[in-house]
Amino acid sequence: MSTRLTLGTSSTGVFRETQSGAATNSSVASSIESGAGTKAGWNLAAKRVLGLSDDEAGGVFRSLPLELIILSATESDLERLIERAEANGLLARVERVSASYETCTRHPRLGRDQLCRRCQGRACGACLKLTPERLCDRCAPRIRRRGRFRRARIAALLLVLAFVASAAFLDAQRVASWKLPVDVTIHPVRLAQDNAIEELDALESSVFEEVDTFVDHEAKRYGVQVIPQVVRLSLGRSIPESPPTPPESASPLAVILWSLKMRWWSWQTARKYGLEDAHVRLFVRYHGREMATLEHSLGLEKGRVGVVHLFADPTQWATNNVVIAHELLHIFGATDKYGPDGTPTFPAGYAEPERAPLHPQVEAEIMGGRIPLTPTESVIPEHLGLCTVGETTARELGWIQD
Ligand SMILES: [Zn+2]
Ligand SMILES: [Zn+2]
Ligand SMILES: [Zn+2]
Repeated sequence: MSTRLTLGTSSTGVFRETQSGAATNSSVASSIESGAGTKAGWNLAAKRVLGLSDDEAGGVFRSLPLELIILSATESDLERLIERAEANGLLARVERVSASYETCTRHPRLGRDQLCRRCQGRACGACLKLTPERLCDRCAPRIRRRGRFRRARIAALLLVLAFVASAAFLDAQRVASWKLPVDVTIHPVRLAQDNAIEELDALESSVFEEVDTFVDHEAKRYGVQVIPQVVRLSLGRSIPESPPTPPESASPLAVILWSLKMRWWSWQTARKYGLEDAHVRLFVRYHGREMATLEHSLGLEKGRVGVVHLFADPTQWATNNVVIAHELLHIFGATDKYGPDGTPTFPAGYAEPERAPLHPQVEAEIMGGRIPLTPTESVIPEHLGLCTVGETTARELGWIQD
């Protein structure tokens, strides 16, 4: 024979018609004398008769009305339970029931009489209303395991991120140290509409050799020597998708966000298309003759990645190498040395700032980008043979130590 215990307060309306006021008052009176009207007194009875933990016993007051099936209890146990419930302001009703119930594994004194919302199986009232999961004794451990699994997954993700960050840091160290060769891989971006650009089929690593030679030669002029050479450019696999579009505004936040997006994209793309290992990646979008002007190229310092826009026309390939070298040096820490109108700034943007007379210059400082002919006129160098790395740039690159 089991007992159905119903707990409520007068405001929960469970008892309004059945409860006898006189009986309640007398039990309150007796319990005050015995000190049973404390939360500790209730917890003790709930633990003994219902098998509830302290947390669960305390939770009863927030979970009213509450219905529990007590599988077995003596008359005196029940009496004490009711007494302590009422002394704590609860209204309690007990009722003998003849139906038989399965035993709850979490609460062995209670029977499973209600439905779990997750599995629709039977569950005891304490499991459904007093446990943190509010699920049956079979579902609750699964949910807890899943929580642990989720936490483990987040931990693994953080580990991967830490790994990516440290790999990026090591690449940055390698680049900044100028003691080991830096491998730069050029990945042409070939979208579906670019398939018509046949010139790209003729691209090969040797096209970029001028850049290797230029950087190596300029580094040597400042006493930086790396065996066999400072940078090694090679043509890598093409990819069929565009890098994230650079921000319209030059606000620092927009640039930082784009830079994060760009690094993440580069890392993901390298995995997705099985790209060759590289310390630095340049994603190059080649444009056909119909394009008059090109989007701005961007080299990300510390991101070890750049997006470069070039003309596909082979007669432009030598000029393309000037753009590639310029963006590459950005990645290595060099800044632009030209004004808003594109005119190189004096003296840092000049190849020979001490030349007399100053104009016309015969070479371009690579980060100044153009050869100044007069104070206001300048031309784009046709090849890297007409470019040098100035002292300010060399300092930024760490080729000159103060
Ligand atoms: Zn369940
Ligand atoms: Zn239970
Ligand atoms: Zn630039």
